[in-house]
Amino acid sequence: MSHKQAFIGAHVSAAGGVANAPIRAAEIGADAFALFTKNQRQWHAKKLPTEEIRAFKQNCAQHHFSAQQILPHDSYLINLGHADPEAREKSLKAFIDELQRCHLLGLDRLNFHPGSHLNKQSEEACIDVIAHSINLALKRTETVIAVIENTAGQGTNLGYRFEQIADIIDRVEDKTRIGVCIDTCHTFAAGYPLNSPEECEQTFAEFDRLIGFSFLKGMHLNGSKKGFGSRVDRHAPLRTGELKPAVFEYIMQDKRFYNIPLILETPEPDNWPDEINYLRKLAG
Ligand SMILES: [Zn+2]
Ligand SMILES: [Zn+2]
Repeated sequence: MSHKQAFIGAHVSAAGGVANAPIRAAEIGADAFALFTKNQRQWHAKKLPTEEIRAFKQNCAQHHFSAQQILPHDSYLINLGHADPEAREKSLKAFIDELQRCHLLGLDRLNFHPGSHLNKQSEEACIDVIAHSINLALKRTETVIAVIENTAGQGTNLGYRFEQIADIIDRVEDKTRIGVCIDTCHTFAAGYPLNSPEECEQTFAEFDRLIGFSFLKGMHLNGSKKGFGSRVDRHAPLRTGELKPAVFEYIMQDKRFYNIPLILETPEPDNWPDEINYLRKLAG
């Protein structure tokens, strides 16, 4: 695609089947969306029926959603950095299933949280385990890019420093199948300043230096209920909470954030049409 465009949407419900997600996204005026391809709070999922896959692809085509506008999110139960081999194997199996589901749906990326050390190993050891799990998952699947989301650093979650994500990427063998999703709420709560154009410039320069924009495969646009550096992950509607509009103005006016899904995970779905309009206006 020669023309660069801001793709803006939200994490919509897939209740009743994944084929409903693109319809719901179109209804709120989105040109991007995120979804869970299975119940995010359960380990097991039925195979996607052929009919459901066909309907999903048809609805995406009808509403003009291509793969670069869609950011599926994996289950919250998965921890690729688990110190216990049996628990890790369970997570790895579930992650591989998620990658396969995305592949079947014609999707090209899967957003996941790197993992938690659970106070059972050092951060460094956990990063090794995460990278090893990713390598195994990529070998057993095809094409889909594993997209690491930065975290707020709540509890024992890793991925709250750009260095940690860079260390994981360093150890992934197939660099064509690893990417990053930056969540504005998580970034701010983790202690990266974003409340002025200068602070945004500084934080994203650091991101570019340590990780690189070539790995950026999606963004989560969320306000933050908790303060700078709190390491608490509580999303707020845009234009409320501790995160000021500066970061959303910065992102919407910078083409390095275009042609990837920009996803709202804000807590009030009724506000999404208005928040999408607000972001579009900032893009000009
Ligand atoms: Zn997430
Ligand atoms: Zn997020």
